[in-house]
Amino acid sequence: MTPTAHRLALFGHPVAHSLSPTIHAAFAAQTAVALSYEAIDADIDGFASALAAFAGAGGTGANVTLPLKHAAAALCATLDPRARRMGVVNTLVLRDGGWHGDNTDGTGLVRDLTERHALDLRGRRTLVIGAGGAAAGVVPALLDAGVGELYIVNRSSERADALVDAIGEPGRVHSRYLADAHALGEFSLVVHATSATRGGMLPPLPMSLLASRATAVDLNYGEAAIPFLAWARAGNALHAIDGLGMLVEQAAESFTLWLGERPQTDPVYAQLRAHAPTLATAD
Ligand code: NAP
Repeated sequence: MTPTAHRLALFGHPVAHSLSPTIHAAFAAQTAVALSYEAIDADIDGFASALAAFAGAGGTGANVTLPLKHAAAALCATLDPRARRMGVVNTLVLRDGGWHGDNTDGTGLVRDLTERHALDLRGRRTLVIGAGGAAAGVVPALLDAGVGELYIVNRSSERADALVDAIGEPGRVHSRYLADAHALGEFSLVVHATSATRGGMLPPLPMSLLASRATAVDLNYGEAAIPFLAWARAGNALHAIDGLGMLVEQAAESFTLWLGERPQTDPVYAQLRAHAPTLATAD
């Protein structure tokens, strides 16, 4: 790294197989910005000290992934409204000696769906499966994009209830137990936002959740997206989309926050898609 290079990192656990270093290296090559971007494995207990050590060594920006997105918000001096609304941060920018927290996940997902896949989200009855950091990041952006009634289902009720309370639109956004999803009728947009499939297991989901011509979206990508996309295909979803496009779009949004320059995402997406094991449609 040259002395003037920007020092960036991804914090999370696990991070060893993350595509983020590859994506940011491609953005850096494209924009001719000198940077380093390393993956730093940190759990909840070690995160604050790892982040402080990173800043002490010249780090000026970072991404944060599971399970650290709520913890990152607590370490910030200032928060963008996108991050403050739900208390989850995926992007840290060093400003005036303190961390500024933002969340680019929701913008990344909506940009992938509406621009890359040319989908109109307005009015769609929407189901979000999962209530962790990723769900908290994308639900406000889906609402802002104009989806209709939205249900959040989760294995444990507390996180889904907390998410719905934080959104504060009781007539439009509701929480339920995942096990009670069969009673919710059908949805034209179903978003899978759990980490269950990282272990290969998709929670049981009735096919009746999928309306005719539904769009099914998995925030996971690669091997972890295969069980949900296979379920969506078996249920005749019109579109079955994995999280690779979202990953690239949220990274571009973070890159812009750190460096003030927006990289082109299509070439990087195409490069990664060529190597991604997936059942996603390329519509
Ligand atoms: P998280 O904060 O750890 O939350 C995990 C969620 O998965 C919780 O809702 C949890 O339910 C649920 N879950 C875990 N194991 C489960 C199981 N066996 N059965 C049912 N539910 C289960 O993680 P996250 O940050 O939200 O990330 C979720 C997934 O989205 C990850 O796999 C991540 O890679 C992916 N993601 C992708 C992108 C992208 O750019 N494409 C961005 C962000 C995240 P409980 O609350 O009941 O534990």
